[in-house]
Amino acid sequence: MSRVTLCGWGRTSPSVATLDDVSSESEIAIALASSRAIIARGLGRSYGDAAQVSGGTVLRSRIGDIGPIDDQGVVLVGAGASLDELLSESIPQGWFPPVTPGTRQVTIGGAIAADVHGKNHHVDGSFARHVIEMRIVTPGGGATVSPSVDPELFLATMGGMGLTGVITAVTLKLLRIETDQVLVDTQRFPNLDEVMSEMTHGDENFRYSVAWVDCMTRGAHLGRSILTAVNTRAQTTSNLLHSSHPHRRGSRFLFDAPNGLLNPLTIRAFNEAWFRSSPRLQLAKPESISSFFHPSTGSRLEPPVRSPRILQYRSACPKVPATPCAEHRTPLIFGPFASFLAVLKRFGPSSPGPLSFPMPGWTLALDLAHRSASLTRSARRPRRDGPLGGGRIYLAKDARLSRGEDEGHVSPARRIP
Ligand SMILES: Cc1cc2nc3c(=O)[nH]c(=O)nc-3n(C[C@H](O)[C@H](O)[C@H](O)COP(=O)(O)OP(=O)(O)OC[C@H]3O[C@@H](n4cnc5c(N)ncnc54)[C@H](O)[C@@H]3O)c2cc1C
Repeated sequence: MSRVTLCGWGRTSPSVATLDDVSSESEIAIALASSRAIIARGLGRSYGDAAQVSGGTVLRSRIGDIGPIDDQGVVLVGAGASLDELLSESIPQGWFPPVTPGTRQVTIGGAIAADVHGKNHHVDGSFARHVIEMRIVTPGGGATVSPSVDPELFLATMGGMGLTGVITAVTLKLLRIETDQVLVDTQRFPNLDEVMSEMTHGDENFRYSVAWVDCMTRGAHLGRSILTAVNTRAQTTSNLLHSSHPHRRGSRFLFDAPNGLLNPLTIRAFNEAWFRSSPRLQLAKPESISSFFHPSTGSRLEPPVRSPRILQYRSACPKVPATPCAEHRTPLIFGPFASFLAVLKRFGPSSPGPLSFPMPGWTLALDLAHRSASLTRSARRPRRDGPLGGGRIYLAKDARLSRGEDEGHVSPARRIP
């Protein structure tokens, strides 16, 4: 055990806690029973302070064995294993996690606790939906839960952000793949309305889709976008699994610049270059799985000191109205606090976990360089100007939710009695 300063990926709110590395369920149960302020931590990839507790204990589970994958793609994984480790085992055997977030440096436990989503949410839903059963440790000891055994605890743990206990092992159903490459369609759109219209009508033809949005343009070009989409159902089997692109790490969307360099001028210049260098329309370009799914992070390490402190503004907006809603338009105009990375995605049906973030509709992620408290205040403004109208805030990303604001996060209908 050691006293350490911890922060999230955004490095916005460091706090000091006792870090306890544990390697058995009994150690976890003892730690939970003997501390009043305690939370699990995976690889610290949540942007805010979700895996921190100031003055308390932060538990890091070392239980990370990966079992054999059976012929149905079912695998038993220690919750402390990273997605990166699982991918290294599964891809050569022709299996892929059913859902993967934009980084492979998350633990399986962290992926369930945040019920993470990927580019295929509109087709496959979020991560926890593919969990067959899991082990959860509470102060009373470990238990196996599933949709049929203690379903309340199972569901509350999906997206429960570590508040229901510590997940130690997970039985997961993987997705069959025939190649370690995908065929990517890319298309540029002159504004937000057009890309959203295309996604509304065309997403069903693609298993994976996501749009990069330029937040620096205005007027008729507000939110000009680049949509990338993959339809695995249409893939040929000509690309072999052991191809010449093993785990290539893409450099797209990786920002490793001092905060001061991320100003409206440099962001505008980058966006201009990025938009113009992208093809107007390109069909079926082969790309490695790694570079398509995880373009931004490869290292298991904490964020480099040089990288900007990041505040990510991420909310989900319900389907009605189906066109761009005020909640999503307003934050595009953050004035001096320009977003250096904005990503738009369509969500499919929610998962049954009452705290799970995704809901049918849209989600927009805005990365902002965090320079001062005034940014945090400004970032709240859009929610006041444009009420969420039944939307949600992503707890794994948020670093600005104030006491009381989260009350609307779980609708009464979704609360566990
Ligand atoms: C570059 C980048 C891209 C990302 N892209 C996406 C994306 O596309 N989609 C998406 O949904 N998310 C995305 N994320 C967010 C990330 O997937 C989540 O924050 C995820 O929870 C991080 O996992 P972790 O292991 O680092 O957990 P941590 O950040 O350490 O913890 C997250 C939460 O999980 C809890 N937790 C961790 N381990 C356990 C456990 N064993 N048992 C119980 N609770 C536990 C913690 O208490 C905490 O509340 C991204 C993050 C980064 C940095």
